[in-house]
Amino acid sequence: VPDAQRKPEWLRMKLPTGAKYHEVMEIVRSHQLATVCAESKCPNIAECWGRGTATLMLMGSVCTRACKFCSVSTGNPNGWLDHDEPAKVADAVALMNLRYVVLTSVDRDDLADLGAGHYAACIRAIHARTPDTAVEALTPDFQGREDLVAQVLDAGLATYAQNLETVERLTHPVRDVRAGYRVTLDVLAFAKRHAPTTVTKTSMMLGLGETDAEIEQALADVRAANVDVVTMGQYMRPTKNHLPVQRYVTPDEFKRYRDLALSMGFLEAVAGPFVRSSYRAERVLEHNNVG
Ligand code: SF4
Ligand code: SF4
Repeated sequence: VPDAQRKPEWLRMKLPTGAKYHEVMEIVRSHQLATVCAESKCPNIAECWGRGTATLMLMGSVCTRACKFCSVSTGNPNGWLDHDEPAKVADAVALMNLRYVVLTSVDRDDLADLGAGHYAACIRAIHARTPDTAVEALTPDFQGREDLVAQVLDAGLATYAQNLETVERLTHPVRDVRAGYRVTLDVLAFAKRHAPTTVTKTSMMLGLGETDAEIEQALADVRAANVDVVTMGQYMRPTKNHLPVQRYVTPDEFKRYRDLALSMGFLEAVAGPFVRSSYRAERVLEHNNVG
């Protein structure tokens, strides 16, 4: 199937508007903050920032991995880290007046602890500065190392997320060779065992060639790992060098997948053309009996 060049009606970009959006955009610009929201030109930016939610990128913009769906540059940062980043991130959260912040990063296979210590330092810095802000970490797989996942969880998280990205059959070629379908499921299952009151979450992109049966199987596998929340969104090809879009999933189909997920016992399922892992992330705060 050739990559569909013309996007369907429902994928036309929503234009960012609103006073809160403009206020936060100005803070981001003047403080040179690395938000995934602005840098990825996320279509949900007005809505998320209007609700006091944003996603911040840690540990630079060069990733040690090369997933076939992702436009982040691949390279070797050779152990580079900005040791002032925890303080900067805590400042950003305070300035943006966020009530829910998602921290994410490139994969840092070049660091001895794969970046886990840096995540923990950033989470602690936010808690010290703005104790009422809930923190979500959407992390690398830490090569499946439970001691590193525990280090991040122990810093105090509302939500821990690791993305499955796609169904088992498509994991390779979609994800980097070092990533694994079972590794991600095992990391998520461990996170729930280690920190039962932390919400666990994963995200999948649809439109890469997966079948309905494969989606259902993936959802069952995720639920079997005791993951609380699942999100599903449309895969969008960042450049011609990335995997082509195999299909545009209609809003009705997304609704069907959401209903399917809810019927399988997920606490929350969010699905739609523009849904990203961090979209409506703060809604987990409404669930007070996780665990
Ligand atoms: Fe930012 Fe995520 Fe919301 Fe997009 S969905 S604006 S990346 S918080
Ligand atoms: Fe992109 Fe994450 Fe894959 Fe790195 S590990 S290439 S940041 S999706």
